[in-house]
Amino acid sequence: MAAAADTAEHIKERTTGELRTFAKRNSQRWNRSLIASVLGPTPNTSPSTRLSGRTRGSETASSLDKILAGDNPLKLETGAADWWTVHRGLSPVLGTAIHNGHGVRSAVDALLAISDDDRLREEDPFTEFVIRDVPNRIVFHRSRFEVDLNRARQAAVYLSPEQAWGMDIWSDKPAPETIEDSLRVHDDYYSMLRQVLRGLEERHGRFVVLDVHSYNHRRGGPNAAPSDPETAPDINIGTFSMDRERWAHVVEPFIATLRTFEFRGHRMDVRENVAFEGRGEQTRFIHEAFPETGCAIAVELKKFFMDEWTGLPDRAALVAMRAMIRSTLPILEDGLQATT
Ligand SMILES: [Zn+2]
Repeated sequence: MAAAADTAEHIKERTTGELRTFAKRNSQRWNRSLIASVLGPTPNTSPSTRLSGRTRGSETASSLDKILAGDNPLKLETGAADWWTVHRGLSPVLGTAIHNGHGVRSAVDALLAISDDDRLREEDPFTEFVIRDVPNRIVFHRSRFEVDLNRARQAAVYLSPEQAWGMDIWSDKPAPETIEDSLRVHDDYYSMLRQVLRGLEERHGRFVVLDVHSYNHRRGGPNAAPSDPETAPDINIGTFSMDRERWAHVVEPFIATLRTFEFRGHRMDVRENVAFEGRGEQTRFIHEAFPETGCAIAVELKKFFMDEWTGLPDRAALVAMRAMIRSTLPILEDGLQATT
């Protein structure tokens, strides 16, 4: 028992110490209350009121201790049969993490030649964690190698190497029925998405979708130089399929807010349509289905918050990214309200 108590005490001390260094190292944008605001339960009031009151203060402090001590899992627990998870809350902002999934159903798994590690490298692990404070959110639990929701239906199962970064991913090509079973999940996802978005439209008039992804910047190997930062911003905002003028008053303050966020001594380098243009199926679908009411922003985070070769997360960077996304919510909501 004594040993267990020592360990708990040790964790507490280490956590407090880490937190102090953490807060000291970073600017006022990245302070204790912002960290704490990330870790509180998802509230349905404006962020400025979320931390008021003694009870809430102590609750968030204890959640904060937990996350820094490692009690708050960076990965969502999911079952083998799960397709996706939807959370609904009081806000016109929806976050999605459609490439977060790593699961593959056994009929497909049996045919895959690609290793687990290679798959993981092209998926977007931890993007679910980054959007965990967005009141509405959808996380897809299947791997993009089973079905890629961000490709049009006819290209959503990678059958040729050109569709999959030059890799031949199959040891045996899937039968037409197997492919069709995967594509039906694509159909079901989009019918669910349409319904969720219709609900947001009915309640709020307009909505914003943050379609969150991540991208590799060390394709040359773990020891090779990373991609040139000139062409690889920390955050790439993709607006290709958007009526950019219609949504300028939402997108521009969003980008400006991201740019003010400091982490480890530098401000986020946020640029539009540089590494990617947001040509994915999900944003295309949203702008087609909700041309006047839906603003879908593709957000590509460079994988500086993890080691893309080992798959290991950088917890502090992930907590910061989560705080950053959280800090944009009032800006997005204000922008939508200003829509005429
Ligand atoms: Zn992605």
